[in-house]
Amino acid sequence: MKTPSFSHLVSLFSACPLFQQVDAEKMQRILELFSCHPLEKDSLLLTPEHPNDYLYLIIEGQLSVHLSSTDTPPVGFINIGEYTGEVSFLDHQHPSALVVASQPSMVMRLHRRYLSQIYAITPVIQHNLLTALCGRIRSGNNSLVFSEHNAHIDSLTKLPNRRWLDYAFQRERQNSTNNKQPLCMIMLDVDHFKDYNDQHGHLAGDAVLQFISEQLREQLRPHDSLARFGGEEFVILLPNLSLFEASQVAERLRSCLATLSHIPSSQPPLPSVTISLGVAEFSPEDELTCLLHKADIALYQAKQQGRNRACVFNPS
Ligand code: GH3
Ligand code: MG
Ligand code: MG
Repeated sequence: MKTPSFSHLVSLFSACPLFQQVDAEKMQRILELFSCHPLEKDSLLLTPEHPNDYLYLIIEGQLSVHLSSTDTPPVGFINIGEYTGEVSFLDHQHPSALVVASQPSMVMRLHRRYLSQIYAITPVIQHNLLTALCGRIRSGNNSLVFSEHNAHIDSLTKLPNRRWLDYAFQRERQNSTNNKQPLCMIMLDVDHFKDYNDQHGHLAGDAVLQFISEQLREQLRPHDSLARFGGEEFVILLPNLSLFEASQVAERLRSCLATLSHIPSSQPPLPSVTISLGVAEFSPEDELTCLLHKADIALYQAKQQGRNRACVFNPS
């Protein structure tokens, strides 16, 4: 690989965000401070194990970015005309990811001691680096929001999961106490679901869980909190309803599934299922586990009494 001419480099990086608003003459003066380095395939350029002093520009080949190890699939690539290492180059900390040459490559690098020199050539570079950092912060925040969201959503039913229920309960408990309004819980469980899976297959079972989730969501008010508690169990928090009203909701949910002969969305048609439900009312001293326990006792009664029914928790 031979070192490219400056005119070639200027055209290579003319679209690079780092050099936005930097004219060709200044760009060349900045590029003259960089030195060229060939990289063999698989050689490690940046690693969280070592602090980094360099900003790298890619002039040939391609680099791949890995999060925890080079054995894991890359989370991104850095191509010709792009750059890497800017965050650790600026703060002299350890890079947050591994960057590896995914093919024989050529990079140009600039040591951080030249920073004041490039700022002196044009302060625009400072602005461009700041913009790049803002982009990093934003994408970091977005992935945090994304992973936070995913941590609370069940992938099969797209309903919030048990972890989310903790948050929903704290919120509803607070509202119930502040507004002196009742709060009820329904715990529901699909009847004989193991047999259903055995008879119709696990995929059919999955389709049933998805259908039930849609049905429950449709039947409930927007401010009711519905979560997939685990397996074939769901939990609902019903604010501002008395125990009697909550038991009517439970009965409506039960009958809406029990009256179906088959799952409408399934092809070929799958037989419908029934559910059993336990209803309990929140008392001011209840933690989530306590309310869950009460609803679970009522659910157990419903199962004991023959399934396909709703029972209300009775403390006596
Ligand atoms: P009961 O009426 O007493 O609740 O009986 P059951 O068979 O429903 O209860 P059991 O606890 O014995 O079995 C629950 C079944 O739910 C077993 C498990 O394979 C199934 N299940 C749990 N999660 C899923 C899932 O995500 N998809 C499918 N298809 N099945 C699931
Ligand atoms: Mg169960
Ligand atoms: Mg069950």
